Amino acid sequence: MIVEARTPLKTRIISSLAEINAKKATNTWQEQTHWIKITIPEANQSDLYFYMGCNNCGRKAFAEKGDTYTCSHCKDNKAIAIPRVTFTFTAVDTTGTKKFTIFTKQVETLFGLTSSELHSLATSDDASKLDEKLNHIRSIEVFIEVGPSVALNSSRLLSWVIRNISLE
Ligand SMILES: [Zn+2]
Repeated sequence: MIVEARTPLKTRIISSLAEINAKKATNTWQEQTHWIKITIPEANQSDLYFYMGCNNCGRKAFAEKGDTYTCSHCKDNKAIAIPRVTFTFTAVDTTGTKKFTIFTKQVETLFGLTSSELHSLATSDDASKLDEKLNHIRSIEVFIEVGPSVALNSSRLLSWVIRNISLE
């Protein structure tokens, strides 16, 4: 007998992209977050951006992949330059669309690969593996938790960032 060892999902109240797009800075507070169920029908390789970053603090590294260097941000003198990645995409639901950029950890969750693995696929002569991944991502439903960006307080211009990403 197969027993599914799955933890029950938290109950999420799902908002829509139209609701998020209609919010104004004056009626949104910093801690307010919303889960939205989206698809990414146009996920493309060209929307992946790789750069080298510190394995300790994640900030930009002026070093080659795998090199040890002294990080000017966290002062780690044994920092190793590792691939970091951003992914910019248009989220789609039945009510609208919205563009987001996600960073290393969230990209790794979405692709189910580490940044290093993703970097290897993206720079490989064999494009088929990354194509397969992107095809899969175009076909699945993704849950994103969005909240106002930290700029909300200073500029009163409301923009949304992804705080969490989940595939179930
Ligand atoms: Zn660092």
